[in-house]
This record gives sequence, structure tokens and C-alpha cells, in this order.
Amino acid sequence: MVLVFQSDPLDTEDARGRFYHVCLGRMQEAEMPVPPPDQPYACPRCGVELETEDFWIAQVKGSV
Ligand SMILES: [Zn+2]
Repeated sequence: MVLVFQSDPLDTEDARGRFYHVCLGRMQEAEMPVPPPDQPYACPRCGVELETEDFWIAQVKGSV
């Protein structure tokens, strides 16, 4: 698991929810912005690449 999606039902202004990177087994506190399709996020710590598509999958499944 490298990406977690959390939706906050109390937050009506941001209904899309938030994404968090799970780095080396630890969920990061900083929210992950969705990267542009041509610029996947490469984590300098664990080396994972997160593409835009991964974020949409996480949004549906809760995690990737
Ligand atoms: Zn990482």
C-alpha cells in the first residue's frame, strides 16, 4: 500500500477528499496533491512512483 484516500464527510467544501502517501509503511501527515498526468510523483525516500491514475484508483478503492 503506497497511497491512501480519505474522505471527510464533514468537509463539504472539499468533497473529493484527501490523498496521503504511505512511505515505507508509514502514512505521511502531509496531504498529497494529485500530480499532472505527465508528471508522476516520485518519492525520494521509498522510490515509488505515483501516477495520476493511481490517485483515481485510490479514490475508488480507498488505497492503492
Ligand atoms: Zn515514499
